[in-house]
Amino acid sequence: MLQSIRHSHPLVYRHFSSLKDGEGHVRRIMELDRYWQRAQDGQREQVVFDGSLLPPGTTFSGEFDLIYVGGTLGVLHAAVMAAIYGWQVLLLDRHIAGKSTRDWNISRDELNTLQEAGLFTGEEIEDCIVCRYKTGWAEFFVENGRKKRLYIDNVLDCAVDANLLLDRALQKMLEHPGNRVCNRTDFRRIYTLADGVAVEAEDENGVTRYYKAGMLVDAMGIMSPVAMQLNDGRPQTHVCPTVGTIARGLEGVDNEVGEILVSTEPADMSAGSGRQLIWEGFPAGGGNYITYLFFYDSVDSDNDKSLLGLFETYFSKLPSYKKPSPGFAIQRPVYGIIPAYFHDGFSQARVIASDRILMIGDAATLGSPLTFCGFGSLLRNLPRLTGMLHEALEERRLDRERLGAISAYEPNVAAMANLMKYMCYNRETDKPNLVNELMNEVMIVLDDLPPRYREAMFKDTLQFEELLKVGMNVALKYPEVLWVTTTKLGLEGSLGMIKNFVGWALSPTR
Ligand SMILES: Cc1cc2nc3c(=O)[nH]c(=O)nc-3n(C[C@H](O)[C@H](O)[C@H](O)COP(=O)(O)OP(=O)(O)OC[C@H]3O[C@@H](n4cnc5c(N)ncnc54)[C@H](O)[C@@H]3O)c2cc1C
Repeated sequence: MLQSIRHSHPLVYRHFSSLKDGEGHVRRIMELDRYWQRAQDGQREQVVFDGSLLPPGTTFSGEFDLIYVGGTLGVLHAAVMAAIYGWQVLLLDRHIAGKSTRDWNISRDELNTLQEAGLFTGEEIEDCIVCRYKTGWAEFFVENGRKKRLYIDNVLDCAVDANLLLDRALQKMLEHPGNRVCNRTDFRRIYTLADGVAVEAEDENGVTRYYKAGMLVDAMGIMSPVAMQLNDGRPQTHVCPTVGTIARGLEGVDNEVGEILVSTEPADMSAGSGRQLIWEGFPAGGGNYITYLFFYDSVDSDNDKSLLGLFETYFSKLPSYKKPSPGFAIQRPVYGIIPAYFHDGFSQARVIASDRILMIGDAATLGSPLTFCGFGSLLRNLPRLTGMLHEALEERRLDRERLGAISAYEPNVAAMANLMKYMCYNRETDKPNLVNELMNEVMIVLDDLPPRYREAMFKDTLQFEELLKVGMNVALKYPEVLWVTTTKLGLEGSLGMIKNFVGWALSPTR
């Protein structure tokens, strides 16, 4: 695999050649990049079947209450269902459950829900925090003399060792008899029966096995073929392709401060209709520093959104953000496609459940399209999501309607999707530095308001009146935003925004 990108992606080739498992990472990145073709084709491989089509004489390799497919956020959810509520759980992953291709930043108070859900003690949570920062900031590239560095406290200020956290949760699940994990096992199909589901899976040796359970929890992330089928080939509307490294030997890093959003140049036009590249940088503990490069985009834009291409850009532009010193050494690359869904309606519009099937995490795509903190979204909702599923299992009500109500949908987060659209650059409607100028004005407005506003904005907890106030202040300081709204969002998008806001205003959870 590495050899095949030697000429097409020379910088990725050079850096990944020195990694312990560079070959494996390139394979995994290419696996994720298959998403683009699928999204473009609206590919709808059928994977959900009626039970009558289950091959006759099928025997089961195990029976459980719940089958989880996907071992990232699926692990945390499954651990609560098994260790706290006592349900018997099988967890399948095509790679290794609990080994993620990303690391997480979050605030300390958001981690408390793991304690609230009964999964971890405060000390166990502390063990997984590898670094804490005093503060963080966001800054956008402008040359009009108005550049504002906005300091934000209590946001993304803890670096969590994702693999350690997930490994501990897995241990808690496996301490209880009857629970099982099957690694290197690929989900193939699900058959819905009158009294449960049959899941067809293939192990690394190509052996097909069937498992039975009361229901399936789909935690397959953006690649979920179940989400693809149940959402008519369009499970996401927007994406945030993200790549980066955990590395040592970068110049200009401050080990006590997080850089939450940073842009260093106008929109990059090299990859299609244009993309506003944004950096993030966080101390990662043990002398390491994590840098990310990403951009917001709609799924159907003509930009090259491949992770491999973005990694090439990352290595070529990294010196403009943090200069690698001669001692630059990558510990591990981090990457993924973070999904978003624009809810064009007054409330949740996306399918997240079917009879005996429930999607969580990125498979459900209900996290914030603005902050893209899917881990944070699951944690915020974990006690509620697991508690409601426990009740539905006890009452044996696993129909589409009941499961569909077990949702991480938040009307405030859905409304934020409209702000995300302002971050998606489009050469046809925008001047090259539009996104930076607009975001800089938002930083100026937030800087003038009490700290609660900026904290809530980045933690997805902004109240309706607060967002209105931010919006009005931006319009007063930067009237161009009204024109930008009509050109960037168009009539349909503007109507969608109004619907979202009305839905939020009328929501009982407001
Ligand atoms: C680089 C990066 C950094 C991030 N940083 C943060 C952060 O700081 N804070 C935060 O809150 N959020 C962050 N996020 C978002 C967060 O990581 C995601 O929302 C979260 O990982 C989603 O988890 P998931 O389990 O839903 O999906 P995934 O993480 O995509 O996991 C899906 C799992 O399903 C498995 N799978 C897929 N298909 C199959 C199949 N057919 N059969 C079997 N198994 C299958 C995969 O192997 C994988 O293990 C970041 C994301 C990225 C990409």
